[in-house]
Amino acid sequence: MRSGLKNPLSIWHPYTHPTLDPAPIPIRRAEGAYLYAEDGRRFIDAISSWWVTLHGHAHPRIAAAIAEQARKLEQVIYAGFTHEVAEELAERLREALPASLTHLFFSDDGSTAVEAALKMAVQFWHNQGQPQKRRIIALEHAYHGDTVGAMSVSAESSFTAAFRELLFPVLRAHSAYCCRCPVGKRRDACSIDCAESLEQLLERRSGEVAAVIVEPLLQGAGGMIVHPVEFLQRIREITRRYDALLIADEVLTGFGRCGRMFACEIAGVEPDLMCLSKGLTGGFLPLGATLATPRVFEAFCAPDRRHTFFHGHSYTGNPLACAAAVANLEVFRTEPVFERIAAIERVHRERLARLKDHPAVGDARMIGTVAALELRAEDPGYLSTLKPRLYDFYLQKGVLLRPLGNVVYILPPYAITRGELQYVYEVIEESLALVGR
Ligand code: PLP
Repeated sequence: MRSGLKNPLSIWHPYTHPTLDPAPIPIRRAEGAYLYAEDGRRFIDAISSWWVTLHGHAHPRIAAAIAEQARKLEQVIYAGFTHEVAEELAERLREALPASLTHLFFSDDGSTAVEAALKMAVQFWHNQGQPQKRRIIALEHAYHGDTVGAMSVSAESSFTAAFRELLFPVLRAHSAYCCRCPVGKRRDACSIDCAESLEQLLERRSGEVAAVIVEPLLQGAGGMIVHPVEFLQRIREITRRYDALLIADEVLTGFGRCGRMFACEIAGVEPDLMCLSKGLTGGFLPLGATLATPRVFEAFCAPDRRHTFFHGHSYTGNPLACAAAVANLEVFRTEPVFERIAAIERVHRERLARLKDHPAVGDARMIGTVAALELRAEDPGYLSTLKPRLYDFYLQKGVLLRPLGNVVYILPPYAITRGELQYVYEVIEESLALVGR
């Protein structure tokens, strides 16, 4: 961005090809649903800046809480020490979470919240003298993050191909990807038959299985795949029957994204472990949290130091991130957040009803504030050549949308107005002319 140095340190951007992708756009400030670029352009952030921004950019209450906390206590080691704002966050989260999740472990982001959950699940059995119960079952099309453990439980994809031999082996069960049903059924005439693959796996191998990990109701990076509520309910029932822990990765789905505070709540499902991040701080600062039940926690309580959970990151429980998270929950308490969410849902429903029969659209789906169109592409998948063409088109129209290959999705900040959201849909409708060209 700035020039003049003889030997500049060039920044390497995530998920960006150095020569095939366009240069990053410098952003000067952001407010509400808008990002304002240095060159005077503005963009509607229709993907909440990688699914983190909840109430809108630069929400003043969250900004103020961080500033105030920074003047008081910016950081303290979280082993052997604690601080007020972390305790307050635990209290506030207590009110929002299922009653069965009683223990909170902090980490840095979504991937580390997942890593912590996987390690807790494996050590849970290890501490109880069952080290053979160490395998994880994950779903097809899953995405749980980019660290090595999180990649292992994610689906095999172009994201993980280079590391295949390094990842730990995982057992795979079907996902309820209804428009491409893995068992050839139609949703209107099925009994969630896809869940049988999980049941069969556990029937044969439950003695080796520590946990099943799922993205509840919505698989994000795998293509914004919306599952029937009954699928999650069946998973809970099966994991209980075969005594495998259930890890709900709510990193994306938490904090209202799917229409309720947590996706598990919609299905009436209580997991053994839950991962939170992204919207936890309203999208201001990185923070991860892994929640556990008393049963899980108690397996770490025997008077034997070897039973300690030996996991921690330098910034665990960072006070600034905790202050942002407390302020985020305060916004939920004092502003009509769920009315905003319902308003987004209404627009999604109206617009998808019109778009679903468009010849370029293979499937239209939504849950809560998230809507997705799976477009008919000759080369479906993340590396579809449609993606860069659509991405550029959207930016030219002043909208940040970042299709997952041939899946265009909208995942807006809750502050987006009806008019702004309608505009996003108009741009998407216009872009459908690019499909098949
Ligand atoms: N889990 C899910 C369901 C996600 O969608 C993501 C990121 O998109 C992650 C975990 C990883 O989170 P992070 O990018 O904060 O490491």
